[in-house]
Amino acid sequence: MVKLPILLITLIGLLVWVVPPTVARAQAGVPPVSGPIVRGFDPPAEDWQTGHRGIDLLAEPETPVVAALAGQVTFAGMLAGRGVIVVDHGDTRTTYEPVAALVKVGAQVNAGQQLGTLSLGHSCPGGSCLHLGWRRGSQYLDPSLLFSTGIRLLPTNAAALAVSLAATRQTAMEAGSAPGVLSLPAAGVIGSGFGMRLHPIFHQWRLHAGVDIGAGCGQAIRAAADGTVVGRSFDSASGNRLTIDHGVIGGHRVVTVYLHAASYSARTGQQVTRGQVVGAVGSTGWSTGCHLHFGVALDGTAVDPQRFL
Ligand SMILES: [Zn+2]
Ligand SMILES: [Zn+2]
Repeated sequence: MVKLPILLITLIGLLVWVVPPTVARAQAGVPPVSGPIVRGFDPPAEDWQTGHRGIDLLAEPETPVVAALAGQVTFAGMLAGRGVIVVDHGDTRTTYEPVAALVKVGAQVNAGQQLGTLSLGHSCPGGSCLHLGWRRGSQYLDPSLLFSTGIRLLPTNAAALAVSLAATRQTAMEAGSAPGVLSLPAAGVIGSGFGMRLHPIFHQWRLHAGVDIGAGCGQAIRAAADGTVVGRSFDSASGNRLTIDHGVIGGHRVVTVYLHAASYSARTGQQVTRGQVVGAVGSTGWSTGCHLHFGVALDGTAVDPQRFL
């Protein structure tokens, strides 16, 4: 009768030895796409700052995106102009964007099960990327720790993939259409487009160097892509003008401007992420009513924003 407890203790001992104590950090997750991490986790020091609250994994558009951990889909839809999927794992949850969802809210998924396909839109070094986030409550965690080693090894073709994706994007930008590079900065229909038009106030034919988005007074103006606020000014024509520099995308310097704002919420020098609220729609300057004039400059020349939306 002495043998059984000894056997149990031995078994428990063996289990404890075989199954390591729960590691607080590293998890045996599955990379949601095969590409390497091209932008790491850089959470902001303060809540209101932006930083990078996740990691970017390089991958071609339309690539399948799989769940990093098993869980339940709690969101699958559009947020600030991009497809987002959230999977709940109990005490933490992972977020995937920009992704066109193939799963519905409420679905149980296994690690490695496909959630959707990668869309264009999250600008990152080298081309298109999946932005992967990991949170516990309101706290952002480093998603690279989701993978067992805590460090992603670069696949052997990573450099070639980055070069090919960069070339693809550059070709698309130069061919005149690279949809998804920018997101619509306000919810509304584009009324007056880019090109020559009879000016509504001056009744003269002029170049309309952007698009007018029919958005209501006070509605949110959102950054069209990740970038840095480089200008906040007022003049009698533009009214409140906000300028965001998105750096080089596909080999070209991309800068966006937002006119006639009622107010700004972003400061000059502030880093902003795509979809982040930077101001409120208004009718300041030469404007006949609340709307957002949205302009895009490619290497310093105004171009039709609809090429990139
Ligand atoms: Zn990102
Ligand atoms: Zn306009």
